[in-house]
Amino acid sequence: MDSKAYIFDIKRNTSEDGPGIRTTVFFKGCPLRCSWCQNPEGIASGPSLSFRAELCHPDDCELPCIKACKAKALTLQDRQLRFDRERCDQCGRCATVCSRHALEQVGLWLGVDELFYRVAIDKPFFDATGGGVTASGGECTMQMNFLHEFFKKLKATGIHTAIETNGMFNFGRFSRLLLPWLDLIYFDLKLIDEAASILHTGHSNRPILDNLRRLAEIAKIPVEVRIPLIPGITATEANLQGLAVFLRDLGIKQVNVLPYNPLWLDKLQRFGVDTEYRHDAFMSDAQIKHCIESMQNA
Ligand code: SF4
Ligand code: SF4
Repeated sequence: MDSKAYIFDIKRNTSEDGPGIRTTVFFKGCPLRCSWCQNPEGIASGPSLSFRAELCHPDDCELPCIKACKAKALTLQDRQLRFDRERCDQCGRCATVCSRHALEQVGLWLGVDELFYRVAIDKPFFDATGGGVTASGGECTMQMNFLHEFFKKLKATGIHTAIETNGMFNFGRFSRLLLPWLDLIYFDLKLIDEAASILHTGHSNRPILDNLRRLAEIAKIPVEVRIPLIPGITATEANLQGLAVFLRDLGIKQVNVLPYNPLWLDKLQRFGVDTEYRHDAFMSDAQIKHCIESMQNA
């Protein structure tokens, strides 16, 4: 039977997620809980309800969403729609009746064949530019069996394959089910200190560091390490220098840094995300340069 995965976005014509023109597929579900998560809609494995209060005008609406909600998660208080996420069972009924798109269910189930045909349509562009398909998330490796079938199909059609991973996967399954079908791995590395990792991502970093160590030993394809620069968390001199020493010991000489982008803060209210991290400024060129020099001088 065709396996299915829950996917929250498919972006065509991307250029940041690998060589050439690409299509990036965002899979839902992530084992980490990073306090600065840029894609909070990708954390839960199943559907996520988006509520954009700025599009909701109860005074000018017959409130079909409240009538549709059997869980009584939606109520009218002080002429405002109140959404109780604790009560919501993500059935999605309200989203189907909200003509203003104030309520929307993010994501959909797709089978391997359905996803394959959606992305393969751009093969002429991939061929002309050396591009292909990148699986992202969330953490796409949580859908290992699905990805195995999907990548196998892409490779059989001659399409370049890449993944973006946070490194939190079972290495045995990864090397058996995914590695043979991959052309490129983007491996995100965040924190070198275990206690800091537990505090800021909800998990120990030991499996992640071990997986990168093992990949560096056996992978015959490029493994590109990327470090998200998160002010006050990953973008500290101590962390960056510790990561640089770790990478040097593995023989990895090149890394990419991903400067902080605060635009994710708009999603906090929309997806009901609970986090204390609220840094709201882009990094300056001087701050980014300082981070890079910290690593170079380690
Ligand atoms: S969420 Fe949509 S259907 Fe519900 S009150 Fe607001 S605009 Fe109307
Ligand atoms: S998704 Fe279902 S339970 Fe949640 S608010 Fe909408 S109708 Fe209610």
